[in-house]
Amino acid sequence: MADQHDILKKVISHSKEYGFVFQSSEIYDGLSATYDYGQYGSELKNNIKEFWWKAMVQMHENIVGIDSAIFMHPTVWKASGHVDAFNDPLIDNKDSKKRYRADVLLEEHVAKIEGKIQKDVNKGAKKFGADFDETEFRATNPNVQRRQAQIDDLNKRMEQAFSGDDLEAIRDLIIDMEIKCPVSGTANWTEVRQFNLMFGTELGSVSGESATIYLRPETAQGIFVNYLNVQKTGRMKLPFGVAQIGKAFRNEIVARQFIFRMREFEQMEMQYFIQPGTQKEWYSYWKEARMAWHNALGFGSDNYRFHDHIKLAHYADAACDIEFNFPMGFKELEGIHSRTDFDLNAHQEFSGKNLTYFDPEKNERFVPYVIETSIGLDRVFLAVLAASYKEEELNDGTSRVVLRIPPPLAPIKAAIFPLTKKDGLPDKAREIMRLLQFDHSCQYEEKDSIGKRYRRQDAIGTPFCITVDHETLENDTVTIRERDTMQQERVSISKLPELLGESVGMKKLLNFSTTVSK
Ligand code: ATP
Repeated sequence: MADQHDILKKVISHSKEYGFVFQSSEIYDGLSATYDYGQYGSELKNNIKEFWWKAMVQMHENIVGIDSAIFMHPTVWKASGHVDAFNDPLIDNKDSKKRYRADVLLEEHVAKIEGKIQKDVNKGAKKFGADFDETEFRATNPNVQRRQAQIDDLNKRMEQAFSGDDLEAIRDLIIDMEIKCPVSGTANWTEVRQFNLMFGTELGSVSGESATIYLRPETAQGIFVNYLNVQKTGRMKLPFGVAQIGKAFRNEIVARQFIFRMREFEQMEMQYFIQPGTQKEWYSYWKEARMAWHNALGFGSDNYRFHDHIKLAHYADAACDIEFNFPMGFKELEGIHSRTDFDLNAHQEFSGKNLTYFDPEKNERFVPYVIETSIGLDRVFLAVLAASYKEEELNDGTSRVVLRIPPPLAPIKAAIFPLTKKDGLPDKAREIMRLLQFDHSCQYEEKDSIGKRYRRQDAIGTPFCITVDHETLENDTVTIRERDTMQQERVSISKLPELLGESVGMKKLLNFSTTVSK
């Protein structure tokens, strides 16, 4: 069995071997932190997008979607604060010459201490058995208390240093905490510097002059500048949401961990426009609704947690992340931000256009507040692959690698195998393929033994394999084999569309949205 540490390595090599993810421009030795999605990867990615889009747009009568351009007027990024404040604090280790994000080094240090506390708690639970009271233990155990005090102190100092953009104080914290470079093992650090993450490029103009424009670092601004267009043409009333899926670009200082942190990635964002003063209520609604979306995938609620931001972005009055238990530990998967009226106010000011909403009931005009849900498509992809990847020992002494991808997200829903290449079995198999492929992605395979074909389909996460044999020609029945249980069943061909529809249809995942109250 693979342990947590080499799961990431295995997922990376499996992704390449089976056509999920390739390094970009691989024949030229690749381009760092840029990846291409292969034949199965692009299907999985599209299915994740469909699940998000349907959950957000189709299942909400007051949310609509748009698709805005990647290039935007340069003033957009002045107004949004990205030109002045979209920076990461970076620090270099002088011995290893490795570059780090100072905030990440500190957050990882906090996570390390939290890990130690958890270890103490687990020990206590083991020792006291059924009588164990975790709250009391945390409040009274001297080790836990000492460590918790360390965390509280560190958080306080971090809050002060980051909110005041005090780079010296950030460096002092790294030194005081005795944080060492994992490569050189030394604490020989440079100063902390700010680094802007936007990619700029030149837009040639007719007169020969050029202007710097940016590749968008988030899709959100395309929504803000269009909010009144959508509101007016769609006759939307508050509260309403605008959703968008699209590419975003960031010149990340430290881009690593496969598709977790890339310089070109895809976001799925939704801005929910609300009455000022209702932001607390909607912030907690969207926290709950988004967590329910993640849990619908069935990877276990233990693998997700909320993490409240200490360092709030320039636009937010509250913010948290939904973190997922990736092979490299709990890391951000999605951000939920209460963005106040910051963006709309700023665009109003910079554009000189009136962006107020007219409330017909109150008979007044105001700038709406906004709650944002922002999730990285590539990070969901990595979460799905990592949680689905299983190495299993089978009863007959053999083993298999199987991707237990939630069936509605699986790249191929059904593989159809003729038992042999003769006796009209391929024709019959292709007939079944035509019956199913209007609704589902299917694959026809006739090479190798059925056992080998099963293994190949397990490795790409295909939920069903359908085998056509001689009996099929007599009574129109086939064998259908389910990926996770490996159970086989004889069913009539006419039952296949219904059987597949129930198990692999998006409805199975989308049903969760009815459980969130509002
Ligand atoms: P991080 O702290 O990991 O850099 P962030 O807080 O800057 O992320 P947001 O600006 O909130 O991220 O972006 C929303 C979402 O976009 C994130 O939750 C993440 O899923 C995704 N995302 C952000 N940066 C990247 C990246 N470089 N590569 C892949 N996905 C990303």
